Amino acid sequence: MNLQMLIGGNHVAGNQSIDVIDPATGQVFASCARGSREDFEDAVTAAAAAFPAWSQSTAEARSALLIRMAEVIEANLESLARTLTSEQGKPIPDAQAEVGGAAYFLRYYAGQTIPVELIEDSEARRIELHRRPLGVVAAIVPWNFPVLTAVNKVGAALLTGNTVVVKPAATTPLATLEIAALWKDLVPAGVVNVVTDNNDLGDALTGHPLVRKVSFTGSTTTGSKVMAAGSASLKRMTLELGGNDSGIVLDDCDPEVVSQQLFNSAFVNNGQVCIALKRLYVHESQYDAVCAKLAEIANAAVVGPGSQQGTQLGPVQNRVQFDKLRALIEETRTEGTIIAGGDSPEGEGYFINPTIVRDIADNARLVTDEQFGPVLPVMRFADIDDVVARANNTSFGLGNSVWSADPARAGAVAARLDSGSVWINKHGDIGPDTPFAGAKMSGVGIEMGMHGLLEFTQAKVMNYAKAARV
Ligand code: NAD
Repeated sequence: MNLQMLIGGNHVAGNQSIDVIDPATGQVFASCARGSREDFEDAVTAAAAAFPAWSQSTAEARSALLIRMAEVIEANLESLARTLTSEQGKPIPDAQAEVGGAAYFLRYYAGQTIPVELIEDSEARRIELHRRPLGVVAAIVPWNFPVLTAVNKVGAALLTGNTVVVKPAATTPLATLEIAALWKDLVPAGVVNVVTDNNDLGDALTGHPLVRKVSFTGSTTTGSKVMAAGSASLKRMTLELGGNDSGIVLDDCDPEVVSQQLFNSAFVNNGQVCIALKRLYVHESQYDAVCAKLAEIANAAVVGPGSQQGTQLGPVQNRVQFDKLRALIEETRTEGTIIAGGDSPEGEGYFINPTIVRDIADNARLVTDEQFGPVLPVMRFADIDDVVARANNTSFGLGNSVWSADPARAGAVAARLDSGSVWINKHGDIGPDTPFAGAKMSGVGIEMGMHGLLEFTQAKVMNYAKAARV
């Protein structure tokens, strides 16, 4: 079936199509509807038309709908995961976890109640802070976690009484369109719309006067454009952008134990995670041992198609990213020492063997830029003040981690790192109840948790005079 968009409760085929490539083969394996500027306009109009009724629905009705939306995802988990693996590349168990996670996020949102905050209740007055929905939300999604990212934004937008237009990335639209088809007859027409593009129509949402909020996840470069486009109509913005997370391994860690966790933190989803560990600093006393262990783990990792049982690391998601990473690895050959990987397995597809690079300078591009793939630079340090300065010497500020046998000691170092999240003896642990924010150029605003939900609302103060005679 040629998957279609969902606009105003209707399937829309569009006049053009998108050929979707399986990154494990480099070949087109499916196609779906590709939206036009008119389709985007129709979607925003439909969302705006649906807003009055949806924003006045009861909290119970919204929660009940979110539960039903989660249930159909769960009932179709296997087939959605297969589609996700085919278009994104990740191993089937990871795709299942992502799809199941999306349903879990919806269930979390279904259980939340937006509170009325009492500011003052005195003899003279009573002041309450209420939260109103904003209107139409544009949810713009990248290709690394297409399902979870889209569904997270939809759940938060709907619970708070907004309507939404979702735009997946051009290389990963399929599972999102399949979910839209499952929701079509559950969700009131226009409350959720899904439109697709060829990476060329985002501005039709970010510049649209009827869109009141943009919830964007993607690169910092695109995030800046989104902010500029939304400025004329003063849209609310949540921007979850790029990261270059560091991990700092103190001198009391056991390399045999910590290295597997470090590897998992860096190579989860093939390194294509905003909060993957992307720069590793290891105390000089453990440096050689950690490097050797990481190389051993990388050399033993099973790289292959996500659909193949036993695969640990699938292909890189798309050709552009694959070529970028290959060029970065070539550049790195003269700047550091590659001790594992650095090449691709035989055959088709966008595969890169997990690559560990040691003895590389802090100003090498692999260290300063966001690689967003299966390549990890490992640097040595001797002094805590020095490594804190080096970890903070970046315009990114998404996450960092500190690893030590003594959590209090690690916590003291973690407190000095400039990022929205910092993990101690783990990396990248997020969940629907935990606020997630980027510092510096890693983002604007907060997603998830109650703090994230409130960003989908407008604060409204109700101020009653108590003693007044009128
Ligand atoms: P991207 O910025 O290229 O694209 C993201 C989305 O924005 C896509 O849907 C794309 O079509 C759309 N887009 C492109 N140009 C646009 C424009 N001018 N206006 C509006 N929308 C536009 O990012 P990507 O390459 O798909 O994803 C990788 C990046 O996303 C990495 O930098 C990664 O760190 C980041 N990311 C961040 C988080 C986070 O939560 N902080 C999560 C996942 C990914």
